Amino acid sequence: MKSIRINAPGGIDVLQTEEAAIPEPKPNQVLVRIKAASLNHLDIWVRKGLPFSPYPLTPGSDCAGVVESTVSQVSNFKKGDRVFISPGFSCGTCRFCLAGNDNLCKDYHIFGESADGFNSEFVAVDEHLVFPLPDSVSFSESAASTLVFLTAWQMVVDKGQIKSGDTVFVWGGSSGVGSAAIQIARYFGAEVITAASSSEKLAVAEKCGASTLLNYQTDDIVREVKAKTGKRGVDLVVEHTGAETLSRSVQMTAKGGKIVTCGATTGWDAKIDLRHIFFRQISLIGSTMGSRNHLVPIMKLIANGKMKPVIDREISMWEIQKGHDLIESGKTLGKIVLIP
Ligand code: ZN
Repeated sequence: MKSIRINAPGGIDVLQTEEAAIPEPKPNQVLVRIKAASLNHLDIWVRKGLPFSPYPLTPGSDCAGVVESTVSQVSNFKKGDRVFISPGFSCGTCRFCLAGNDNLCKDYHIFGESADGFNSEFVAVDEHLVFPLPDSVSFSESAASTLVFLTAWQMVVDKGQIKSGDTVFVWGGSSGVGSAAIQIARYFGAEVITAASSSEKLAVAEKCGASTLLNYQTDDIVREVKAKTGKRGVDLVVEHTGAETLSRSVQMTAKGGKIVTCGATTGWDAKIDLRHIFFRQISLIGSTMGSRNHLVPIMKLIANGKMKPVIDREISMWEIQKGHDLIESGKTLGKIVLIP
């Protein structure tokens, strides 16, 4: 089978297509023929080098496909079943895992980051990480959903505690996490203000349900948000951009509001005026990934048409270098899906 391998971190040329044996599933595992995978910003960090990534590494955190074979006589799956796979895995027995907070487990790993991932023709994976894919969700839609919707769900619902009537601000409304956050906030009855860098990106965010569209290259974002909210500010800011945006996130948050951050695509060394945090009692909350128990309900909402992943384009998995280039150009409108 063919797989993408990163033998050592570096530029896009370190993404190499290699031949490998099809993995032999263990008794508790399912062999899945991958039909679609997708790129996340995480893949850029992994390619450039993360201290906890074991190289050589197969990248890729999202995928969907069909069951090729099972070993166990009592498997819930049979050959040909359409499935998707959890982007994360954990020990399954610690107090965090048992409480459904598997992404707090000390042995929590993301496929394609701290373990081999899904940019491959086949993967053998523990059966408890494999879920039936509803017929109405395409392989590409599934692959474009798992990591970003799980991440956005924890940010908006678990940490942000969204309520009907809230006003939410989402940075980068056409990005994977941004477009998912907008749809989740709308689903819970919140109003969404978003900012992006072009009218094409804002059109995508509008389709997702954002009602106020701002251009962060030309608009005074904080002033516009204050004007839109009667000077109050927003109840929740969905932050994944970091250094370039965090001070504005703090300024636009209402008294008692929350900022939930899951990333720092523009840099992690952000400055905060702490006076805003304590005087206005703002909560700054960290978030990474989400509990695995949200995956099936999220996929059901996508199957029922309540939410829809935004896909920029599908490309061949073996053109992954082009996919990384597209993400780094900042011009993509949604997710890049890789077809093996
Ligand atoms: Zn655990």
